[in-house]
Amino acid sequence: MKIEMSSPGYREAMLQVPINGKVQCLVCERRCLLVEGGKGWCRTRTNYEGKLYTLIYGAVSSLSANPIEKKPLYHFYPGSRALTAGSWSCNFGCPWCQNWDISKTAPPPHSQIMSPEDFIRETLRQGCQGTSISFNEPTLSLEWSLDVFGLAREKGLYNTFVTNGYMTEEALALLAEAGLNAMNVDIKGEAPTIRKHCKGIEVEQVWARCQQALELDLHLEITTLVIPSVNDGDECLSNIASRIATELGVEVPWHVSGYFPAYHFTAPPTSINTLERACDIGRGAGLQYVYIGNMPGHPGDNTHCPNCGEAIILRQGFSVLEYHLLGGVCKYCETTIPGVWWSEKPEGGLVSAPPGPPDQ
Ligand code: SF4
Ligand SMILES: [Zn+2]
Repeated sequence: MKIEMSSPGYREAMLQVPINGKVQCLVCERRCLLVEGGKGWCRTRTNYEGKLYTLIYGAVSSLSANPIEKKPLYHFYPGSRALTAGSWSCNFGCPWCQNWDISKTAPPPHSQIMSPEDFIRETLRQGCQGTSISFNEPTLSLEWSLDVFGLAREKGLYNTFVTNGYMTEEALALLAEAGLNAMNVDIKGEAPTIRKHCKGIEVEQVWARCQQALELDLHLEITTLVIPSVNDGDECLSNIASRIATELGVEVPWHVSGYFPAYHFTAPPTSINTLERACDIGRGAGLQYVYIGNMPGHPGDNTHCPNCGEAIILRQGFSVLEYHLLGGVCKYCETTIPGVWWSEKPEGGLVSAPPGPPDQ
């Protein structure tokens, strides 16, 4: 394979180690071993003359200023906006992918390339408060994300990831060090189901990354896309909820989101009844903040104080309608609500923007 090393999207990759004439990629838990001229499972990394190169440094498939509620991150600067970039391909093989048009596409040879400097300039120009790497799996854009996060931090912007959580421990440590502030991680279901549907994925690694995120003091929220016949049974939902409660903490928000048929999956859309059942299961497991996603207007979108029960954040779609927290404390009973909040109510109220592609 001929590589034009002058191509702006090609860079020497991080986290690689030579092994017996091949090179191993340590960016995600697939830990691919690449022969000379070969590509990794995700098709975004290649072995050229004994070194790994990323093919997607700054390759942007989608770019839009999104409400942070869309990630979803509900306990993290509500009403703010993050300039969000996606790239190409994925390290999972889920047949229901809601963003399959970019996640199932290998990086095209002439993708639009955006430098970290230009991305940060655009973030500020659009009046966003932070960045988000999302739409496809952001772990694959590790090198670009690290450069973006460093620049963003210098400008006082926050940094977020919407991820399947399959990066290695080393990759997450690098991201946190560079300035990652918050992640939404998709917990998809039980090990055998996910191994089968998502092509060899070991979900235990995702749980381990969630624990590491908390140890690194990152803000963490969990999403489960509830898919009929895959993970909508009581036992499966109950296991996920209990593990969040016992291994991550009852204060970690859990978003149970509605799926719509996409890509190779034809099961019907998730019913409201199923999502409400999932919500009840989450609360029954002790979780204090369970949200119903992808059902705009459903009251399961609101945040209630776990002490006094008052609605402290009211949402409509991706917009925040009411905000009754003062510096992270319930206005009604002064209970501290876990999250990363505005120190005071933002000037000019809370604004949201039209959404771009779905984040998960
Ligand atoms: S990022 Fe993951 S899937 Fe891609 S080459 Fe590296 S180990 Fe393989
Ligand atoms: Zn209260």
